[in-house]
Amino acid sequence: MDQTAFQAVSKLELKLEQNRKQKKKLKHELGAGRPCLICKEKCVGGLNLHFWRKICINCKCRKENHDLRPEDYDEQLEVFEILGVKIPDHKNLFKYSTKNQKIPTTQQVDWVPPVLSTNDDNASKRVEKVTQQYFEDLGEEAIPFKDSEAAIKRKELASMQIPPHDFAPEKCDNLSEFEAQQLKKYVDNVKKNYFGQGQVDIAEPKAVSKNPFKAQGNFVPPYRAGHDLNAINNNLANNMQNLTIDDTQLITLPCRACVEPITSAYVKAERLGKDAQWHPKCFKCKKCSQLLVDLIYFHFDNEIYCGRDLAELMKIPRCAACDELILVPEYTFADERNYHIKHFCCFHCDVQLAGQQYVSDDTPNNNPVCLKCYDHYYANVCSCCTKIIAPTEQGVSLKDIHFHMNCFNCGYCQKKLIGGRFCLRDRIPFCSAACVNSANM
Ligand SMILES: [Zn+2]
Ligand SMILES: [Zn+2]
Ligand SMILES: [Zn+2]
Ligand SMILES: [Zn+2]
Ligand SMILES: [Zn+2]
Ligand SMILES: [Zn+2]
Ligand SMILES: [Zn+2]
Ligand SMILES: [Zn+2]
Repeated sequence: MDQTAFQAVSKLELKLEQNRKQKKKLKHELGAGRPCLICKEKCVGGLNLHFWRKICINCKCRKENHDLRPEDYDEQLEVFEILGVKIPDHKNLFKYSTKNQKIPTTQQVDWVPPVLSTNDDNASKRVEKVTQQYFEDLGEEAIPFKDSEAAIKRKELASMQIPPHDFAPEKCDNLSEFEAQQLKKYVDNVKKNYFGQGQVDIAEPKAVSKNPFKAQGNFVPPYRAGHDLNAINNNLANNMQNLTIDDTQLITLPCRACVEPITSAYVKAERLGKDAQWHPKCFKCKKCSQLLVDLIYFHFDNEIYCGRDLAELMKIPRCAACDELILVPEYTFADERNYHIKHFCCFHCDVQLAGQQYVSDDTPNNNPVCLKCYDHYYANVCSCCTKIIAPTEQGVSLKDIHFHMNCFNCGYCQKKLIGGRFCLRDRIPFCSAACVNSANM
């Protein structure tokens, strides 16, 4: 092949590659038009995702607050792929058998947990049994039955706990080459040292001697460091007092979170040691206390966390505007929040605020707002002169009535009322009963 032909081929390949990329839905198209569950009809036209804020332009709520369908979360699957999350192959075969009369006896679920493998001949029967028990212990309201509320909640939790933009550079707003490299390092590090997925099994009580201290000489409880040994020993002592079996009794390992014994299904997290296990209901992020979605955990200091909280534990700042991790040394810190320098913008009109005067809105998010937008969206109007009370001006507020400091005067004699006595009549302040009477004449 001569040189020009080769160039033509490589150009063609490049073009094909681009076409393929364009076929993928852009992130701001996923879920477009879905109504907001919080704002209802106030979100006119439905979800219209801001290009980098990850909130709706129409109503300012998060994407997840909108009535999303499972396919609107497609990008989450790509992130699971990056992490290497296991998708058990019995997913399409498993049908949950309910004991509840109100719902059909067997139901398809959206997800099944990975089951600890054995070399058992009856492996598939066992997988079925463990999966069924895991869901029973989790509670039927939390089972992600196809198209159920729990199935949607699962997707919503996934995008909160494992934000796609924490793991996939193409979900971020225009990363520089340096930032993309930093993100790759972070993802590699997390995969290698922190990420894990729980596996489930059913506890099988172990037989121990009735009086292990005498019978076996030095008795070492079968627990690893990191447990609350006192609680475990007390538990063990109680168990021993209640012995009814002749010379052996059955004990089970306690749950890492609630320290109660596990007698049924449990979740095991390999990264925390071979005896670390939890009740299905107790497998939660140590920080935000949410059930860890799809048993995906991030191990830090011998505890389990969600991906969002892991980044915080690793002291990586998160931009309060775009929700992405900040992977450069320079960033803006304002009102206890971190921002990419380029994202420190007015919450309403996106004008850059670096070096500008701005105000925080009154929400828990402390969003920065430019003075123009503040006047437009938030400023109070003086009930005396009917002009806006700018954030830079001093004002007086009596419940829902507002005045400029200089306008807060007696409605009859114009005496200044700041620091003095006053009374309100028909939303007008007066210095005395006499002035009220005079004004009424
Ligand atoms: Zn909304
Ligand atoms: Zn909306
Ligand atoms: Zn527990
Ligand atoms: Zn968490
Ligand atoms: Zn940002
Ligand atoms: Zn603005
Ligand atoms: Zn005024
Ligand atoms: Zn007066």
